[in-house]
Parts: sequence; C-alpha cells; structure tokens
Amino acid sequence: MLKLKNVQTFYGNIQALKDVTIEISEGEIITLIGANGAGKSTTLMAVCGIVPPRSGEIFFMDEPITGMEPDKIVSLGICQVPEGRRIFPYLSVAENLDMGAFLRNDRAEIKKDMEYVFDLFPILAERRHQAGGTLSGGEQQMLAISRALMARPRLLLLDEPSLGLAPLIVKQIFEILSKINAENNTTIFLVEQNANLALKVAARGYVMENGRITLTNSSKNLLADEEVKKAYLGL
Ligand code: ATP
Repeated sequence: MLKLKNVQTFYGNIQALKDVTIEISEGEIITLIGANGAGKSTTLMAVCGIVPPRSGEIFFMDEPITGMEPDKIVSLGICQVPEGRRIFPYLSVAENLDMGAFLRNDRAEIKKDMEYVFDLFPILAERRHQAGGTLSGGEQQMLAISRALMARPRLLLLDEPSLGLAPLIVKQIFEILSKINAENNTTIFLVEQNANLALKVAARGYVMENGRITLTNSSKNLLADEEVKKAYLGL
C-alpha cells in the first residue's frame, strides 16, 4: 500500500533521512521506532508531502506521490495525526471533527462517521460542545485521532500518540487503534519512542537511527532482539 524507496530528505544542509526504504501492506499495523531526533517525524512528513524528499520515491497504492501537494495526498486517503495533536483550540469538539471532513461533501456519511468516533471515544460525545483547547491531554489525543478518521483514511499515520499521557490512557488509545484497524481495515503507520508499547500493537517494526533504517523484523523478533532490548526497551 505504501512504499518508500531510498528516500533522502534534507533540512538545508542537514540530511535527516538517509536511503530510507519502508513497505507497508494494506491492513497492517507497522511501527517505526527510534530515539529522539532519529528522523521518525520527518519520515511521516515525507509521506504527507510536508517535507518532500530530495531523492528517492514514495508510492501509495502503486501511484507515485513523491512531491505531490499535501492536500492531494490527503484526498488519496492518507491522513496524519501529528505529534502534539495540533487540534484547533478555540473550536468545539464537533467543529474539530467537521474540519477533519473538510474535503468531503457526503453529509449523511460524515454524520455516520461522527457517530462512529463518538462510539469509539464516548467522552468526546459528552464534550462535543466544549472547546478543544480545554480538553485534557488524553482527550485531545482522542480528538486528534477522531479528526483524522473523519477524513476516512485508508492509511493513518500517527506521530507519538503516547507522548505525555498517563499509561492508562495510552493503553486505552492503543486498544482503540487496534479496533480501528480491525473494524475498517485501516492501515496504520505508527511512529513511537515508546517501543515496548508500539511493538505490542504492531505486527512488524522498523528501527531508525540517525536517519537510517538499521533493522526491520516482526515485532515478536524485535522485542526479543538484544540490541533493541538494550537501546529501546530499557532491559
Ligand atoms: P522526536 O522523537 O524527538 O520527535 P524524530 O525521530 O521524530 O525525533 P525528526 O523530528 O524527524 O526526528 O528529526 C530528525 C532530524 O532532523 C533531527 O536532527 C532534527 O533536529 C532535524 N530537523 C527536524 N526538523 C527540522 C527543521 N525544521 N529544520 C532543521 N532541522 C530539522
């Protein structure tokens, strides 16, 4: 479904991604783990068209999307939940969700999808008239995921959804990600510093160090890998 082939990305003279190759099949949950500054967010931004690669190629459903405008990429079915959530603080929960559907005009289906996300996260239904900025961190993360779902993505990109949240909330959010994947066949590309958690929800993982993919394997094998254990699992 998604293929990055030898992607190289630069910020000025600084090379953030070095020869990155990643493949994701439809319906998979895969994770990209790595330390601070490894290049994980840049990888997602390359897919979304926000930081286009200087060289290499990106394909979505076999169609080249390298260098395509971000709004066109969203319209193909790729949606990102950015690091730090970036919800609209002065808009209500319902208005934030409407913003997620701004490229759609099938009103009846949009309404259905709003009910679906309210079923996934009942707290958002309770808070539907509350300003996004007044929600707790966990609720804002739920809203950011829900807003992305309102675009009906085929591929959902998540950048550190666990960041700054209490373990119990993180567990709840990750369970719901599995549910979204199972119920809608939504493919999920999850970027996480919390490797332990990410490798439990994903079937496969990639490890990134200094802009390079250094290892890829099933999550089971990565969880048992001595280097991964030492570097990312604190064992
Ligand atoms: P974190 O987990 O801390 O978010 P990350 O793995 O997502 O880290 P990136 O944010 O992709 O890493 O950063 C990769 C490298 O690119 C880092 O060295 C970072 O300093 C650099 N970088 C990121 N954004 C910019 C920018 N806008 N301008 C210049 N350098 C940048």
